[in-house]
Amino acid sequence: LVDPHGALRPTIFEEMTGLAMQHNAINLGQGFPDTDGPAELADIAASFIVNDDATARRNQYAPGSGILPLREAIARHQQRYYGIQLDPAVDILVSTGATEALAASLLAFLSPGDEVVTFEPFYDSYAAITALANAKLVPVPLTLAETGTRPDLDRFRAAVTDKTRIILLNSPHNPCGVVFTAEELRVIADAAIEHNCLIISDEVYEHLTFGVPHVPIATLDGAFERTITISSAGKAFSMTGWKVGWASGPAELIAAVKSVKQFLSYSSGPAYQPAVAHGLDNGDAWFSALKAELQAGRDILVSGLREAGLTVLEPEGTYFAIADTRSLGVSSAADLARLLPEHGGVAGIPLEVFAIPEHQAPLASWMRFAFCKRPEILYDAVARLKVGL
Ligand code: PMP
Ligand code: GLN
Repeated sequence: LVDPHGALRPTIFEEMTGLAMQHNAINLGQGFPDTDGPAELADIAASFIVNDDATARRNQYAPGSGILPLREAIARHQQRYYGIQLDPAVDILVSTGATEALAASLLAFLSPGDEVVTFEPFYDSYAAITALANAKLVPVPLTLAETGTRPDLDRFRAAVTDKTRIILLNSPHNPCGVVFTAEELRVIADAAIEHNCLIISDEVYEHLTFGVPHVPIATLDGAFERTITISSAGKAFSMTGWKVGWASGPAELIAAVKSVKQFLSYSSGPAYQPAVAHGLDNGDAWFSALKAELQAGRDILVSGLREAGLTVLEPEGTYFAIADTRSLGVSSAADLARLLPEHGGVAGIPLEVFAIPEHQAPLASWMRFAFCKRPEILYDAVARLKVGL
């Protein structure tokens, strides 16, 4: 295996959630809501599992592509929100979370030595799966700025070459909370077209934006035919443990993703799939309420961290805000993150884990905090951070 960046180390999420539990700290590390999504969806899943007819085989394997009603609901969702037309028979694949859709998509198209261009910091599985494919990750640093973090498009253009097989995009962006504009996406799509590469677009936070529109890159002229779009019910419905995700795009690309997915998990979560289908068809009010709640959570966290003296970049979307913790008197956020659960009663994630080692130095004092928590928990967390270590 080619793992030059050590990407296959134990994940930081497990370590920090472990420390938070051990010290009974408020867990603003791993991104999961502290309130479950719609009870209606849980009821559908429960009644699917517990049924009177044991011969109905509802608890046996789901079809490899996912149940047709869910694929149909995903197609209706993409049409209703973005005007994207999909054939549920061949253009959609249900996966075990977005994680599996990402893994299967990268493994399906990468040959050893191929390059994957992505913006950095990046979600940790990107480097890990690229390493599993013996391919090379080419990270393009985002320019962190209090006035608004944006992609450096000149640097991006220079990074995409004929060696690039995949542009791996994430908008809304974890961990920086950037939502790419249509103009920025145009530059990215044009580079993909010029160098004939695929776009894998991780849109798991598509409904979690605050006052800015989410634009799927697949809606841009010339992009759909080379784009695999990935999303997740975990984020859309605050049910992260359900691990139901999906990939959609042109039939020939999805067929290749399926050829890998069938040997990763074969199929996933039959009881959750009808619940997610119902959610996608009936979720408009839920999505707007979730957005409003998260935006309120963001505002509590961002202003609280600022009052504690930290530099905070205000996110336009996702569950996360990143903050420079230098004012807490520690230069290494990685050290701070390991002390904070025990001595400060709060857990967060050091930002550098989302970068390759050569690019970690400028991020060394930064941390990511999740705000997908109830207001009283966020107020408590910022009060603890104001006290410090
Ligand atoms: N992509 C991004 C950007 C994420 O933050 C996450 C974490 N939820 C995933 C993918 C994985 O999603 P899932 O839990 O559905 O596998
Ligand atoms: N996506 C979530 C995060 O970034 C959780 C990831 C995980 O636990 N693997 O925190």
